[in-house]
Amino acid sequence: MAGIDNLPPLRDVIATHGLSARKSLGQNFLLDLNLTAKIARQAGDLTETDVLEIGPGPGGLTRGLLAEGARKVLAIEKDHRCLPALAEIAAAYPGRLEVIEGDALEINPLEHLTPPIRIAANLPYNVGTELLVRWLTPKEWPPFWSSMTLMFQREVAERIVATPGSKAYGRLAVLSQWRSDARIAISLPPGAFTPPPKVSSAVVHLTALPAPRYEADAKTLEYVVAKAFNQRRKMLRAALKGVHPDIEDLLTRAGISPTERAEQVSLEQFCALARALKDARA
Ligand code: SAM
Repeated sequence: MAGIDNLPPLRDVIATHGLSARKSLGQNFLLDLNLTAKIARQAGDLTETDVLEIGPGPGGLTRGLLAEGARKVLAIEKDHRCLPALAEIAAAYPGRLEVIEGDALEINPLEHLTPPIRIAANLPYNVGTELLVRWLTPKEWPPFWSSMTLMFQREVAERIVATPGSKAYGRLAVLSQWRSDARIAISLPPGAFTPPPKVSSAVVHLTALPAPRYEADAKTLEYVVAKAFNQRRKMLRAALKGVHPDIEDLLTRAGISPTERAEQVSLEQFCALARALKDARA
C-alpha cells in the first residue's frame, strides 16, 4: 500500500537512525502513519495554518500534519538523535518543516510562526501539563493558537474535560474550560505506542473561544482555583483561609456556600469569586 508519503516506514527510520526510546524524555512513539494522519485531521483544516508541534521524535505525527496539508510545521525537539530523521522529512516537504533543537519550555515559538496557528503534539508526559497550563493562561485572550490537539495520559485528558461534582474536576478543568471548548477526540490503548506506556492515552482537542465564558482576571482566577483545589477535601472557608480576611463574605457574594468543597463549585462561580476577590483587594 502506498503510505501517506514517499518516506520510509517509521520502523525503518528508527532502525536507520538508532532511535531507541528513552524513558527520561517521555518517548513513546506512534509508528502507524494512518493513526498519525487521523490525529492530524482532528486538528481541523491545516491548509492555511501554521502548526506548532512539540516533541516530533522520529516524525510520525509531523508527517501526518504535513500530509494533511499544513502550511508550515514548526517542530521543537529536545533529542538531537531525532534531527537526521526530521531533516529527511523537511527535504520531502520543501520549505514547510522547520525543526528547532531544544527544550520546548525555553523556546518562544512565536518568532517562527505566522497566524493562524494551531498546536498539535504527542506530548512528552513530563512536560505536557506544564505546557498546557502555559498555553491556557496568557493574560490576554484570544491566545496565539486557535486550537490545540494534544495527546495526554487518559487520566489527564479526563481532568481537562471534567465537570463539577466529579473526582477529576479541578484546576485543569477550570483553566481549560474557562476560555476554550475541550473534548476528548480519540482514545488510544497502550499498544498504539512503541514502547507501550503503562496507561491508556487520549487526544484532547481544545478550541479557543473568542472571549472568556465569564469575566475574570486570569491571575486571580488561577490563584484562587489552585488554592481551592490544593485542599480539595476541606470546606472552602478553610481551604481559602489566608486568601482574604473576609473570605466567607466573598464566597457568599459569589453565590458559593462557605461550607462547600471546591469539587462542587462551577466555573461561573469560580469566576464570580475571582472578581469578588479582585474588587476586595483593589
Ligand atoms: N511525536 C512523536 C510521536 O508521536 O511518535 C514522539 C512523541 S514522544 C511521546 C515525546 C517527544 O518529546 C520525544 O521525541 C522527546 O524526545 C520529546 N521531548 C521530551 N521533552 C521535551 C522538551 N522539553 N522539549 C521538546 N521536546 C521534548
